[in-house]
Amino acid sequence: MSKLNPQQQAAVKAIDHPLLVLAGAGSGKTRVITEKIAYLVKQGLPARHIAAVTFTNKAAREMKSRVSKLLDDKQQRGLRVSTFHSLGLDILRAESKTLGYKSGLTLFDEQDKHTLLRNLISHGAKDCDIDNVDSYARQIGQWKNAFVTPEQSVTIAKANEYPAANLYIDYTRSLKAYNAVDFDDLILLPVLLFQQHPAILEKWQNKIRYLLVDEYQDTNITQYQLVRLIAGNLGRFTVVGDDDQSIYAWRGAQPENLAQLQKDYARLHVIKLEQNYRSTGRILKVANQLIANNPHAFEKRLWSELGYGDPLRVLSHKDEQIEAQQIVSEIIHHKFKTGSNYQDYAILYRGNHQSRLFEKGLRENNIPYFISGSTSFFAYSEIKDILGYLRLFVNQDDDAAFLRVINTPKREIGPSTLEKLGAYANERHISLFAASTEFGLSQRLSEKAMHRLTKFRDWVIDTADRIERGDTFAVIEQFIDQIGYPQHLQEESKTKDSADRKLKNVYELIEWLKRIADKETDGQMPLAEIVAKIMLMDIMERNQEDEASDQVSLMTLHAAKGLEFPHVFLIGIEENILPHQNSIETDNIEEERRLAYVGITRAQRTCTFSYCTHRKRYGEVAECEPSRFLSELPEDDLEWVNKKQLAPEVIKERGKASLAHLKTMLS
Ligand code: ATP
Ligand code: MG
Repeated sequence: MSKLNPQQQAAVKAIDHPLLVLAGAGSGKTRVITEKIAYLVKQGLPARHIAAVTFTNKAAREMKSRVSKLLDDKQQRGLRVSTFHSLGLDILRAESKTLGYKSGLTLFDEQDKHTLLRNLISHGAKDCDIDNVDSYARQIGQWKNAFVTPEQSVTIAKANEYPAANLYIDYTRSLKAYNAVDFDDLILLPVLLFQQHPAILEKWQNKIRYLLVDEYQDTNITQYQLVRLIAGNLGRFTVVGDDDQSIYAWRGAQPENLAQLQKDYARLHVIKLEQNYRSTGRILKVANQLIANNPHAFEKRLWSELGYGDPLRVLSHKDEQIEAQQIVSEIIHHKFKTGSNYQDYAILYRGNHQSRLFEKGLRENNIPYFISGSTSFFAYSEIKDILGYLRLFVNQDDDAAFLRVINTPKREIGPSTLEKLGAYANERHISLFAASTEFGLSQRLSEKAMHRLTKFRDWVIDTADRIERGDTFAVIEQFIDQIGYPQHLQEESKTKDSADRKLKNVYELIEWLKRIADKETDGQMPLAEIVAKIMLMDIMERNQEDEASDQVSLMTLHAAKGLEFPHVFLIGIEENILPHQNSIETDNIEEERRLAYVGITRAQRTCTFSYCTHRKRYGEVAECEPSRFLSELPEDDLEWVNKKQLAPEVIKERGKASLAHLKTMLS
């Protein structure tokens, strides 16, 4: 605490008023949150009455680890540090009965949501066109984030939104029938619950007596409602944020929520932090000048004592292959020259697809790296399959899971059987699993088909039973062999290697489930809860152990929020990439500028931009222009390097040479 500056100290000690800390990047906002948790505990508020929420699992984990340096195990007991969604899930699970759910609530991911919507449309949802399913899904998500219920959506929908509004009603009803919720429900349903059941709200207000929110600028309307309800009229909260880093408008984030706080809480105190403890003066100056091009509701100044630093470099490349090679070789060189570690470097980009060539380059040079938030572990088909089974074991009404696994491995239950089953379930408003047992269905199916369905159904019930009664993980390991999943992978995969890798992923998933079960409850956690928890995680969580080792980080600008690295490479700073083409077309440059600002302000000591003059787009080589954002930066603080192109062979050779050199130095 003694190391905090006076404004930070004031923010930590302010507990009699609701508090907003509004400050620029790297000014110690997150630090204030962690110090404040420790302060509250030391003032006598038990940790179990404190909740801190942030936006990503990674940030939550980082926060937990910072807190554990300030408090011992006993002092931390019961502390909630989590994402908004994970807090919502805890509330839902605890109160699912009141909301009319059975136990074993299933969490639908985006793909499940699409599957369900497609099913509803193909079974005759009013005026809907299956080709528009993406846009309906998006619209329903937007309504949920803007705290619009299905009934309200019908009244506010514009003419062209009617089909989506009707679909929203059907979708909500089906989710309920399947005992499932989607991601947006994790916030929306707790808010509805609290509004409708004051006694339950009071219980939770009693549990969470102080609430802290990081990255507050990215909350959407529904999340803000949740904050307001939990914090109550007294406003027992501290929220910290930076309007210049609001980068989730597309998910309904409302930086206006910052101003809204002032309206809703007359006693709100606002503290500004101005000293940046992260970056050199030059990095800050460049970032500040860039963001000055956006209109500002709140004025902020940022200064740093960390020295003026090196100019920010701008690299130009002939194409994306060379860009990747050149940057990999830069990292090798720089690491060698300065004796840094791989973990000191981050490569940041606008879209996930940009990472591919960099991965290749890093791998070819044997450089350890890790990608946050890229293709999620959960997007792998083998993981979806096994999770599908687990979901079905804990909730037989989970139709998305049912469809996922019914023919994986093949059970010769053909499309026409499934179609009839679907139609029957739809008429009767019951789940596929429930329908598969009904006499009425047997009138429509051949004996053979009915027999196969019944066999599958009996097997699911039996396995679910054994899981509930006995050694969960032994049963899980057994069923994978029992259904012949390893053979299925061999048959479906192109190579034996790929089949082996997939099977390894399956076992990794099981190990991971075991760890979750052990971590909080010594292995006593019900499978339903484990599955729900795992559906909330992403790739970052899996890499928890890997992260500790020395690796170059690759991630999108969105994923980089809140983090810091000594050396940052912001790649593909080109028109149509950053700013993104869609944003140019919809005139949404300000949000792109904030993204660039987030990128630059991750850097502690050096920041390097890179762009290509040519790049393959949609299979053709197109000419590219450097991003307009580069022209907004102070010329004196930039150093334009290799405007004249090095031959690709030279770059490649240089990379190899420095790696060889490095190896000799290390041996
Ligand atoms: P962002 O807007 O990017 O999320 P932030 O405002 O949350 O940034 P922090 O991550 O809390 O900033 O702090 C930035 C860095 O400065 C961290 O390394 C943190 O440990 C350090 N820092 C914060 N406050 C102080 C202080 N008073 N003295 C020394 N270092 C500090
Ligand atoms: Mg922060």
